[in-house]
Amino acid sequence: MHRGLNLIGGQWVPARSGATFTRENPADPDDLVGEFPESAPADVREAAEAVAEGAAEWAAATPDRRARVLGDAAGLLEARRAELAAELTREEGKSPAEAAAETSRTPLNLRYYAAEAHRVAGAVHPADDGGLVYTWHEPVGVVGAITPWNFPLNIPSRKLGPALAAGNGVVFKPSPITPLLAQRLVEALLEAGLPAGAVALVHGGAEAGAAVAAERRIGAVTFTGSTATGRAIHAAAAPPRRVQLEMGGKNPVVVLPDADLDRAARIIVKGAFGLSGQACTGTSRVIALPEVHDALLERVVKLTQDLELGPLAAAFQLDKTLDYVRIGQEEGAELVTGGQRLPGKGYFVTPAVFTGVEPGMRLAREEIFGPVLAFQRAGDFEQALALANDSDYGLASAIVTRDLGRALAFARKSRTGLVKINQPTTGMAMNAPFGGIEQPLKEQAGPALTHFYTCEKTVYLSPPE
Ligand code: NAD
Repeated sequence: MHRGLNLIGGQWVPARSGATFTRENPADPDDLVGEFPESAPADVREAAEAVAEGAAEWAAATPDRRARVLGDAAGLLEARRAELAAELTREEGKSPAEAAAETSRTPLNLRYYAAEAHRVAGAVHPADDGGLVYTWHEPVGVVGAITPWNFPLNIPSRKLGPALAAGNGVVFKPSPITPLLAQRLVEALLEAGLPAGAVALVHGGAEAGAAVAAERRIGAVTFTGSTATGRAIHAAAAPPRRVQLEMGGKNPVVVLPDADLDRAARIIVKGAFGLSGQACTGTSRVIALPEVHDALLERVVKLTQDLELGPLAAAFQLDKTLDYVRIGQEEGAELVTGGQRLPGKGYFVTPAVFTGVEPGMRLAREEIFGPVLAFQRAGDFEQALALANDSDYGLASAIVTRDLGRALAFARKSRTGLVKINQPTTGMAMNAPFGGIEQPLKEQAGPALTHFYTCEKTVYLSPPE
């Protein structure tokens, strides 16, 4: 069993209280992956103080040095891809193919942000006196990164990458479901030459996360996780500190009568049941017009029954999924397939497909974050669009059709931050903005990263006499 520690002020240390938690393999809960510090606010405070002090060297580093460190960390992760993928499967439950995809993507993210280190640029404005008015971007100082478990390398790399590229120090509070992978990312950054004082790793759960959100020395908090937690963080991290929140989804796919139904079924099943249904952009609703509903359902059910999913990541995920299967049936929706726990100790369920799901049902409204898919019927395109938009969430949506006019109308009117046309709701480019329409700040990508991770300074320069 691995014995993990916090990284504070360049030292690997236990929680001050000595408290720990353990993490198990979700495919076999008797297999303990590791024991990690259960951090309290005092640990977070110490981490933030240490980073506030230790990050000065990093803030002064040239863009080239920042880029080299991020690029070298990417190289180390690439060299360790196979080992990391095995740990990802053991710790989080991803299938080997999904783990391979994540461990390939994380180094690409870091390389992308390495290049961005050279592009943190300002602007020059015309000045009345023949001088200059120009802007530059300084690092915020200390960034707090609070992350979920479903992409334990990718999501932190999309936060630590841009924060470090811009010259910030980071207090990183990963999910307690995936502490080992978080440690691997930090180890690679340190080995690549990141000054040890520029990053702190603080393990733990809600208490440690809330302390990061409330910590005054942290100038910017970047969070990905559930909507309820995001709201709590937003309330705790009061201005003038900045907060970036990526939260949940209840993502619909609309299928129009002209669609190729085999293709539509593949798009739906990939989006719904990839990562065992545990993707924020995962498809959780299908909105089908009457002409295609039954034929589409039949195809989706057939593909679903052929799937072999990895385990759900944790016992609470299993309980939640089984709860919603029960709730759906109690609400009067029809369970067409799946929704059963598999025998054994692992957190395995068969993927579930419901039909007859009405707009008011919890199955249609609440994020489940498990392999449960709800079919809804719409009379026509306008009604399908209205149903798709009838949600408290606004993360991702998709439409499957050959009708370009309808597709573009859907893209324009869908109340989501991400719209896919003839693609699964899951799967995003690393060089495009990512996030929900209702969320306070979309995750930055490309040149836009400078807005969140830096402070813009405006300088007025008059020519000397
Ligand atoms: P979660 O909200 O339970 O936890 C996320 C992180 O917040 C963890 O590190 C957790 O320890 C911490 N935390 C928990 N309570 C906290 C509090 N009160 N204050 C501060 N921090 C706290 O989410 P999860 O179960 O880890 O992840 C699943 C959720 O994440 C789903 O809702 C999913 O949709 C969402 N998600 C969103 C995106 C996105 O980009 N929009 C991506 C992946 C996951």
